[in-house]
Amino acid sequence: MSTGAPPPIRRLPDGTVKQLGPLTGTRVWTVPGRANRPLAAARTEPRHLAPGESDRLCAFCVDRQLETTPEKVRLVGPDFTPITHVPPARLRDTTPEFRRFGNLFEIVSAEYWRENHGFRQPSTIVEWAREYLSTAEGRAHIAALADIRAAASGVAVSLEEAALDLLGGSHDVIVARRHVLDGATTDDQLASSGTLTPDEHAAYTAFTVRSLAEIQAAQPHAAYVAVFQNWLRPAGASFEHLHKQLVAIDEHGPQVDHELRLLSHDRLLYQHEIADLAVAEGLVVAATDGAVAFAGVGHRYPTLEVYSTSTANLPQEHSPAGIRAVSDLVHALHAATGPLVPTNEEWHYRPPGAPWPMPWRIMLKWRVSTPAGFEGGTKIYVNTIDPWELRRRTVAELERLQAEGLIAPGIRVGDACTPEDAHLRYAESDDGAAPDDPDGEW
Ligand SMILES: [Zn+2]
Repeated sequence: MSTGAPPPIRRLPDGTVKQLGPLTGTRVWTVPGRANRPLAAARTEPRHLAPGESDRLCAFCVDRQLETTPEKVRLVGPDFTPITHVPPARLRDTTPEFRRFGNLFEIVSAEYWRENHGFRQPSTIVEWAREYLSTAEGRAHIAALADIRAAASGVAVSLEEAALDLLGGSHDVIVARRHVLDGATTDDQLASSGTLTPDEHAAYTAFTVRSLAEIQAAQPHAAYVAVFQNWLRPAGASFEHLHKQLVAIDEHGPQVDHELRLLSHDRLLYQHEIADLAVAEGLVVAATDGAVAFAGVGHRYPTLEVYSTSTANLPQEHSPAGIRAVSDLVHALHAATGPLVPTNEEWHYRPPGAPWPMPWRIMLKWRVSTPAGFEGGTKIYVNTIDPWELRRRTVAELERLQAEGLIAPGIRVGDACTPEDAHLRYAESDDGAAPDDPDGEW
């Protein structure tokens, strides 16, 4: 650190907490007296559900599977067995615990890869499209979706072209079975990440990791696959139905570039700037063998951070136990957050082409405030909950959930964690240059 820079986190005499994001430079203030505002998003009055209505509340619901694009994979049964390419006439034969399909309204479209990168769909997708269009149900499904896309874009394409784009896109959605809890009687009893069992959440996470690897492999022009989960409308979700999104992109964005420049001088950047800071400031929230959770410093929104402590970097390079460790902590933090708080879950990891090691980490952001004119004018963000208060609340809730057996066994909560729990090993497999190598600039 250069001398004279303010510390990443400090409390002023009046109680104001000032933060500086160690990796982003984001400036955040928490002023006293605003922390006890309610966290849950305002909702309309709960509405009573008619029989069967809980399976058709939105286009991601299990009774409305033809409103989403052709299904790529589903997981069924207690062992979450994958089934690929279920034809439209067979969608109701099994109950998907999780299903993956292309986003009907992609951020980065199939046309983008075709027009900008000359990407042509491989024969497997061409063959699947031909097969899909060979049945009346398949043709009707593609035609209905093509009409919706044509109405939105103003551009009509042939059925064959529409099928290729819908089946071969690289922006996918993974949807969970439930919209509301099993047996729910009102529409506010939402099924969130935290209401899944630890085993269901582990299947959801492992499915997302496999999907990430498959999308990366299927799109040779992708530099990165962004993975995120928007929960509730204030956090950007179109539907209040649990889902994750994966989007292949052809650059990884300026924040990764910035962190790679920092890493070129210090391979242990995340240990030094994040983990050691969390230990020093008492911000370790929980740990398990393979992952650790911190109350993050310098975020626009209260943010819980889960870091893999594995030597692996990319999610798909982790062992099943390593993925499970990350999943168990993320699940526990979602459970502690509660289903009525809007959140963004963001995955970060080493882009496949990046020269320096980076840990897999997942940010869980509580979208409990909206940056407004003060933030726009000053670039100082007012966050209503400082990291110490975030840790205090989360630890208290984790202890309650643990006593009730609602989070995975083996999680160490709060003061049960040790500094060794915050030892990140992502750089231990690095065979690159020495940390101070001047040729290391990237
Ligand atoms: Zn739904």
